[in-house]
This record gives sequence, structure tokens and C-alpha cells, in this order.
Amino acid sequence: MTDSNAPDTAAPGARTADAPEAYDHVVVGGGMTADAAVTAIHEAAPDATVLVVSDDVDEPYTRPALSKKLWIDPDYSEADNDLGTREASGAEIRLRTRVTGIDRAARTLTTDDGRTVSWGRLLLATGGSPTRLDLPDDDRVVHFRTAADYRRLRSLSGGGRHVVVVGGSYIGTELAAALVQNDTRVTLVTPDDVLGGSVFPAEIATRFQAAFEEAGVALVRGRRVERGTASDTGLRLELDDGSALDADAVAVGLGIAPSTELAEAAGLEVEDGIVVDASLRTSDPDVFAAGDVASYPDRILGRRRVEHVDNAKEQGAVVGRVMAGSTEQYGHTPYYYSRVFDISYEAVGTLDASLETIVDDEGDGAAVAYYLADGAVAGVLLWNVEGARDAARAVLAEGADLSRDGLVGRI
Ligand SMILES: Cc1cc2nc3c(=O)[nH]c(=O)nc-3n(C[C@H](O)[C@H](O)[C@H](O)COP(=O)(O)OP(=O)(O)OC[C@H]3O[C@@H](n4cnc5c(N)ncnc54)[C@H](O)[C@@H]3O)c2cc1C
Repeated sequence: MTDSNAPDTAAPGARTADAPEAYDHVVVGGGMTADAAVTAIHEAAPDATVLVVSDDVDEPYTRPALSKKLWIDPDYSEADNDLGTREASGAEIRLRTRVTGIDRAARTLTTDDGRTVSWGRLLLATGGSPTRLDLPDDDRVVHFRTAADYRRLRSLSGGGRHVVVVGGSYIGTELAAALVQNDTRVTLVTPDDVLGGSVFPAEIATRFQAAFEEAGVALVRGRRVERGTASDTGLRLELDDGSALDADAVAVGLGIAPSTELAEAAGLEVEDGIVVDASLRTSDPDVFAAGDVASYPDRILGRRRVEHVDNAKEQGAVVGRVMAGSTEQYGHTPYYYSRVFDISYEAVGTLDASLETIVDDEGDGAAVAYYLADGAVAGVLLWNVEGARDAARAVLAEGADLSRDGLVGRI
């Protein structure tokens, strides 16, 4: 089947004397959203020509494993972590290449190697870039996001070396857990008074923190890193109380800012992310956005941007089919998961400990927490509870119709 919905373009990468290379579909970014999208395009329109332009040095891989499975499963390697996008999709993947501009009128984009590429339909799957601290530009400082960052942190850790992890949200806590289980001395700096305290209800945060203390992670709580210096022997971090920490390496996990610059410069609507409709189309009908960078209307939770892998995979698949001509809409409400030590948690919706919470302790270390906002359930945390995501979605969909008393025992 050819992709009858894509505008006419020439053969893959075809170029006449002065014409740019031309593809039916071009994807900017080579993450998990891109992988799912090009695989879906290939399934729906096997003859369509597809180019992925990625500034990463690796072809698409499973990002969550960079802070978990690759550290704790000795049988799982980086080769296993490769998504095999090229084989599954037949897409051309151009690595180490950054898209520098989009010309919507001409239906072209330019890349930092000076090339111009024309597209029939364009997907912006640019994800986000990690929040950076005021730290020296030094190989021993890793603002953790990519597989290359994973390889670097591996080379900087182990052998009893001391790594300071900055950030107490899921990336920081996963990295601290991974490192301490790999012969590394770990200090974790978090602004929270209790680790996880800004996300989890107090009784759950206390258990979460205890798992790190028992594993030997040194916690520096209620503190922020302000700046740092580098010397031949190591790094020194200065904290906001005037104290200092010395380290062999520093891993920073402080969240991301969505990479919306290209969309903004191209005149597309951008708020917290690139604004798309339920078909994942931007304000230009031939330009789409999905994954971490997209602000989309969630069927249950309302407009939001989600930085989680379930969303990247599901939106990627839908946007690929829509680009290839489907009229479907994105109706999935994504969940999020994390694993540290023997704790496994999942969540749907908003987790914010400043909201009122109702905790249903199920015993044996399992619990369900409901986060209430404006009289409705805004988020559900499943703590060591499996197979309950749909039940959590159902609770969220009922919204304000649920009475508080009806929540305990609901999942
Ligand atoms: C260490 C880690 C662990 C995680 N663990 C979990 C987890 O346990 N559970 C969970 O739900 N989620 C997890 N996540 C989040 C999840 O991995 C992301 O939500 C998902 O991978 C986002 O995919 P994406 O393709 O939308 O964006 P990204 O993965 O950010 O990919 C976008 C790509 O586009 C590239 N790019 C950007 N601009 C340009 C440009 N102009 N030209 C070319 N390329 C460009 C970027 O460099 C990047 O390679 C984790 C994330 C990290 C970093």
C-alpha cells in the first residue's frame, strides 16, 4: 500500500540538481516516540519514504533502562536495549544531525550539516533537554538523559568511587539506587525534607526514604546545589547552606525543559509544549508533535504534557498512523512507572503531595493513594500494586462524582 494521504514527493532522499532531498514523512528527534511513529507509518504505508533526523549518537533505544535495568540486570546489555527501529520501519536514520530550522511555506527543513530536506508530513518528536546546574563543563559532570550519558556514568562509577546525585525525583532516585548497587558510594542531594516528600503522601515518603538509607545512600535533605568547581582530583559542590560536598563524579537529574524552539521559530502554537489536537496535529495540518514535547488534550485529565514512556509509545503509534492517513484520535490516558530496590510504583494523573491525599494501605507494603483537587481525584498512586492501571483510570474518569468514603477499597 502506498501512502496515498501524503503529498507527492520524490523517491527516498531523491534530489535533482537544485531540489532538496524529499521524503513523504520526516521525523525530528530519534527517541522512543520517533521509534513508535516510524514503525506505525511503515505498518500502515510500507512504501512511504521516511527520514528520522536525530542529534543523538545512538539509534533509538529504551530510555527508562538507562537508570534501571542496565545497572541491575547482568544479562541485559546495551545491545538488548536498542529498539531495532531501522529494521522494523525501513526508515533512514540520520544520527549526530540537528535540525536547525523549519520552513513551513516551502515544506522543508534545514540541518546543521547544511542540508535541506523536503517533507510531505513532519513530526516533531524533540522531547526535552535536561535542566542544567551551574557546574563546570567537565566530563565528570553528567546531566543524565542519553545512552552516552549512561556509558559515561558507568565509566565514572564503581570501584568504591563517590558519586553525588543531584535531584530527588524519579531519575535522581533511580540513579542513586542503581549506583549504590554497583559498588559506588552515593550521596543524594534533594530539596525535600523527606526523600520523595513533594510527590508521595508522608507515610509513603517515609518508607521510600528508609529504602535508600538501608541501602547505604547518604541523603542530604532540604538542600540545593548552588554551584561547583573542578580540580584534577575531583569535583566540589557548594550547597545553599554554605556546606560543600566532594565527589569523583556528579550525576544531575532535575527534569527537562521541552524542546519547543523549532516549533516556536516556525510560528506553531506553543504553550507548555507544542500544542496539538486530539489527532496530535499542530496548528499546521501537515505538522505533528508527540511524546514529551507535546501538549495534548487528554480524554480524562484535560490538556497536559506528559514526560513518560507509555505516552511516548502510545502517542508515537497513533501519530504514525494519522500521518499515514488514519482519522483516529489519541484516547489513551498514560501511566507512569518507576522501580527502585524492591519498590515498584505506578501512577496515573497528577502526583503532588501538597494536594489532599487519601491513602489506602493494603498491607504487605502495598498501598493506593488518591490525590484530590477541587473535589475530584486528580491522581492515583499504585504503590507495589500491579494490574490496577485501568481501575485507576476509571477512578479518574469518575472525577467529582466519587465520594471520598467510596475511595478506600475502590482499587
Ligand atoms: C533516565 C531516564 C529514565 C526514565 N525512566 C522512566 C520510567 O521509568 N518510566 C516512565 O514512564 N518514563 C521514564 N522516562 C521518561 C521516558 O523515557 C520519556 O518520556 C520518553 O523516552 C520520551 O520520548 P521522546 O521520544 O518523546 O523524547 P526524547 O526521548 O527526549 O527524544 C527526543 C530526541 O530528539 C532529539 N532532538 C531534539 N531536538 C532535535 C533537533 N532539533 N534535531 C535533531 N534531534 C533533536 C533529542 O536529542 C532526543 O534524542 C525516563 C527518562 C529518562 C531520561
